[in-house]
Amino acid sequence: MYSGKSEELMRRVRRALIAGRRVEVFKSSLDDRYGGIGHVSSHDGLKLRARPVADARSMLAAVAAASDAANPAEVVAVDEVHFLEGDVAAAANQLADSGCRVILAGLDMDFRGDPFPAMSELLAVAEQVLKLHAICMKCGAPATRNQRLIDGRPAHVSGPTVQVGGPGDYEARCRACHETPGGEQEVRQR
Ligand code: ZN
Repeated sequence: MYSGKSEELMRRVRRALIAGRRVEVFKSSLDDRYGGIGHVSSHDGLKLRARPVADARSMLAAVAAASDAANPAEVVAVDEVHFLEGDVAAAANQLADSGCRVILAGLDMDFRGDPFPAMSELLAVAEQVLKLHAICMKCGAPATRNQRLIDGRPAHVSGPTVQVGGPGDYEARCRACHETPGGEQEVRQR
């Protein structure tokens, strides 16, 4: 979603680097869009070197490997954190408890408008939360949701939760313009 969340993560990382902090930047290994897997990239072409990780455990291991007692990581940043497998909230808490500043950017909801479970937890345990909004591509209102499109039409609710999209696969939508075909039937069956 074009909400500027990667740009905001990069802005915070740059400030930490200017302040001379030891910073470790990660991104999901699922996400190879915009300039490849070794970078966090924004839609407008800014880049920051980042290590790809698949899950919370490997992220913690990489932080530990990059740190030693004399030079611990002071800031850990993860982009597209909703793609990370494992107990991301526990990993973030562990890092924060050890004195690290943890900066995470990700989507709060999947294409159906349901919360990504790890993100619900992270939103609860975070000291600070900044919700950024894209612009609804239908009506121009602030967009809070991702519309998954298949051949230009809203994807059925039964599609896979995680699906990395290219241009045209997702569209920012506001609550009123967001559609998930099959969603109403699903709710009625519960
Ligand atoms: Zn709208």
